[in-house]
Amino acid sequence: MTDAGVRAFEMVAALDYERTAGSPQEAQAARSIVSALHSIGLSPHTQTFEIPLYQITRASFSVTSPASNALFFGVTGYGHSGNTPPEGLEAPFIYIENGEDSLLAQASGCIALLNIHPTPTLYHKMEAANVAGFVSISGAIDDDRRSTDLERRSLRIGRHVTSAEGGIPGLCIRAEDAARLLAAKPKRCKIILQQQTFFGQSANIIADIPGTGHSEETILFSAHYDSVPFSHGSYDNASGSAILLELCRFFKDNPLRRPCRFVWCGAEEIGLEGSRHYARSLSPDSLRQIVLNINIDLAGQLIGVNHAVVSAEESLCHILQFLAAHSEIGLTVRQGIFPSDASSFADVGIPAVTLYRTGAGGHSRKDTACLLHPLALQKTYDLALELTRYLGDSMVFPVSRAIPENVRQPLNDYFARTAGS
Ligand SMILES: [Zn+2]
Repeated sequence: MTDAGVRAFEMVAALDYERTAGSPQEAQAARSIVSALHSIGLSPHTQTFEIPLYQITRASFSVTSPASNALFFGVTGYGHSGNTPPEGLEAPFIYIENGEDSLLAQASGCIALLNIHPTPTLYHKMEAANVAGFVSISGAIDDDRRSTDLERRSLRIGRHVTSAEGGIPGLCIRAEDAARLLAAKPKRCKIILQQQTFFGQSANIIADIPGTGHSEETILFSAHYDSVPFSHGSYDNASGSAILLELCRFFKDNPLRRPCRFVWCGAEEIGLEGSRHYARSLSPDSLRQIVLNINIDLAGQLIGVNHAVVSAEESLCHILQFLAAHSEIGLTVRQGIFPSDASSFADVGIPAVTLYRTGAGGHSRKDTACLLHPLALQKTYDLALELTRYLGDSMVFPVSRAIPENVRQPLNDYFARTAGS
């Protein structure tokens, strides 16, 4: 038994701080990963790229009618949504629940409260319905205000709305406040949202381990190292980043027939920016030579289940099931997509699999190293190691380089495209 889980946990502990995309802390985490790679004896390179960022300067919500119920609520503004005039936007209030068509039909010119964060499809429906502004409900009705944070979200609709463009301005509100608001039966309300959009910088870190044969067939590992606001991102995803380092350490001393490339992706949490940039930067030849992406996102909690989401042909599901049974590792396998960097790679034609372990506290201030344990990190490490040894050393690579239609369609939906675009 190696002590990979223990070393991975030490790395998670070293990254136990908020690392949002484009922040100095994200850059600090990148430097830690680079120095860990140097200590393994590898010479990584760093690929920097521009990312769209925003700064909210004003965000507020108030009820204007009935005047006797002029309630005010704490809100956060949706990044990249749109700005109201400086004096605010005053309009009729409507509650459209999950954005059902029958409710949307009455929402023209209104500020709409909705239960969910708008998907690209719902956002476009709200545009078509001429919704003036939206307020989405965040968290659960029984959240304790002292131990939870109102989310800071940005809109993902397949493009980034700049402050000059004028999308639908949006806010987030706590569920408890939304219930109080509905009970007050508001007729009209006012929202103010002022934000600036600009570009910042993030980075991917890339390390290569040559193969001993089959040099034209590379296995690409990925894990993102950024976090969401408020969160130390230990579970999501210092855990995957640390496991990748341990895999790197192993394969440096035990190379396979096929080369292994490791990419620690920046800025995943704001829309897979790092992996999409990396995928776009590949020449057609380099792209063709990548036969599989193994992405690790979420690992390390003792109470949990390991999952594999296969964005590739079904035979990879069977291989994973066989390996899990053979190595006595618990694993649930499904074919489809996972909202992580593997989707960027599948989108450019690379068969991909995401390994994740279920757990609690993701995307919240509770996500710190306290949630994790070396024994659980070791489980995901063992699974990834087993899979890579099998695939990396097989005489003929057993996964065809194809993205089947039942994966392609959800990818198109995820990236907010219509089929064929
Ligand atoms: Zn993640």
